[in-house]
Amino acid sequence: MLKDKVAVVTGSTSGIGLALAKTYAEQGCHVVINGLGDAADIEEERASIENAFGVKALYSPADMSKGDEIAGMIALAEKEFGSVDILVNNAGIQFVSPVEEFPIDKWNQILAINLSAAFHAIRAAVPGMKARKWGRIINTASAHALVASPFKSAYVSAKHGVAGLTKTVALETAPHGITVNAICPGYVWTPLVEKQIPDTIAARGLTREQVIKDVLLSAQPTKEFVTVEEIAALALYLSGDMAKSITGAIISIDGGWTAA
Ligand code: NAD
Repeated sequence: MLKDKVAVVTGSTSGIGLALAKTYAEQGCHVVINGLGDAADIEEERASIENAFGVKALYSPADMSKGDEIAGMIALAEKEFGSVDILVNNAGIQFVSPVEEFPIDKWNQILAINLSAAFHAIRAAVPGMKARKWGRIINTASAHALVASPFKSAYVSAKHGVAGLTKTVALETAPHGITVNAICPGYVWTPLVEKQIPDTIAARGLTREQVIKDVLLSAQPTKEFVTVEEIAALALYLSGDMAKSITGAIISIDGGWTAA
């Protein structure tokens, strides 16, 4: 179904994005991976995707805080592969701090990477999708696109913004065979979550176990982390033709968190 389509997944050197890139490759998509990390590790991952799935995989080092580099990534994908059919805006960072102490540079960086990057990539990819009358845009938002948690002012603001961007672009592109949706995971066990544990310990004066049980999973009624495989399966469904009527949706995959 998705064989020979081209999928660009931002922030795919780790966590959810890496699982998404591999899932698209498994379906026969050529993929553009992107993100930070050790050059040798990234090359190993890129080559292993090509070898395991018999598709082409390209690495773009575009910095998701820089609009011109993001546009360059989309242009590179179109030049090398001929199209961008599926765009997953997934790169994201977190920073935890009381609002009055929130570092201004961190605020700007989170808004740039978690929100503006999606705008820049969508802006660059939509013309080609419109011309081909087919496209799938999936934004990795968060339960924090729907509800807040203390000490995450920038992240929650950016993710709420992603929900607004998703709905707006869905309306604009609906007549052109393009769908735009946001996936809103609850807590998924990835490096992003692991990295915020020390800051949460400091901000709230708790132990590591208390942070996991009483802060992270306290909001998640299932009391289980969401898996990257579950998110990849949802993205795959949204990318298929049976999901062509799903657009502008803000879809929770959060173990019941936002039902409360
Ligand atoms: P992660 O830290 O494992 O991966 C983040 C990816 O973004 C990495 O590949 C990293 O290199 C990339 N990245 C960061 N800054 C970048 C930059 N300036 N330029 C290019 N790439 C950059 O985190 P994850 O948990 O897999 O998060 C992926 C997405 O899922 C994020 O948008 C995050 O907000 C969202 N999310 C995660 C969870 C969770 O519990 N893990 C929950 C809800 C939403």
